[in-house]
Amino acid sequence: MRAAVLTGPGAVEVTRDWPEPECGPDDVVIAVRAVGVCGSDLAVVDGKRAVPHLPWALGHEAIGDIVRVGDNVAPDRLGERVAVEPNFPCLSCPACDAGRTAVCPKRRILGINEPGALRERVSVPARFAWTAPAGLGDEDLVCVEPLAVALAAVARAGLTAGERCLVVGAGAQGLLVCLAAQAHGAVPFVVDPHEGRLATAAGLGAAAMPDGMDFPVVFETSGVPVALETAIERCGPDGRIVLIGQSAVPARLSTFAVVQRRLTLLGCLIYDHPADFAAAVDRAAELRPGRILRGRYPLARAHEAFAQARELPGKTWITFEHLEEHPR
Ligand SMILES: [Zn+2]
Ligand SMILES: [Zn+2]
Repeated sequence: MRAAVLTGPGAVEVTRDWPEPECGPDDVVIAVRAVGVCGSDLAVVDGKRAVPHLPWALGHEAIGDIVRVGDNVAPDRLGERVAVEPNFPCLSCPACDAGRTAVCPKRRILGINEPGALRERVSVPARFAWTAPAGLGDEDLVCVEPLAVALAAVARAGLTAGERCLVVGAGAQGLLVCLAAQAHGAVPFVVDPHEGRLATAAGLGAAAMPDGMDFPVVFETSGVPVALETAIERCGPDGRIVLIGQSAVPARLSTFAVVQRRLTLLGCLIYDHPADFAAAVDRAAELRPGRILRGRYPLARAHEAFAQARELPGKTWITFEHLEEHPR
């Protein structure tokens, strides 16, 4: 079958002879409809995030239809349209027992330490294939996974109705944080050096950061080290800085600013299984996260999708023929 694979730093190719997935007793095999491109995929493509071997199957934000079920899975799930939750915690360690599955040390991640989902068929444990709500379009469904990240971050920030917040970085994740903040009744402002991304955020109702205003909550979504300086500069007394973007490059931070203004820095890593993902599935129809989709590429042009995802505003996604053959 066909798969988009990384063959070396920056080199994405579509191969035709990728092996079919195996279907374990608790697994389902999914015919992939579409896969969203995410910042962590770009880090893999750039060689900034090491993968176990090359060639490496990319991608994790997958949706599709169940075409095979394992022996322990209800046969009536065949044909279901699903969104994949691409992080598989072990569900038996102390972190998992405490419900903090995001920090499970044995977490398997599609496209990072498990072969990714940018291929015609992928197998996942059945409990990580979430049934699409009836009537939800594929555009909204493919954005459920990054929406889960945004909703979990907004919840962790303790954002309240009427509170204003600053979102640093108006890439796909920043846009979804804006939508999640609005859904909480908060008022998001954005800052980004890229005009197109700012315009996209404005189209979703997020205002540009005004001069001189400080914010009780700041979300850093870009992962650019220098953006932390903006986040700290604009965070008001007793404010919370919520970090979603990641970089291994150290960022500069003044402890004077943090201590004098009593700032809290909160790391936000994905979401906890299963409640956070269930919430994103449930709220997708209301939040319509598919509004952030822009660049769309067929699998054959996956290399272009990755090359341009960084510059295009909104989220880039890659679609399979299966989507056109079975439109929803
Ligand atoms: Zn993602
Ligand atoms: Zn665990």
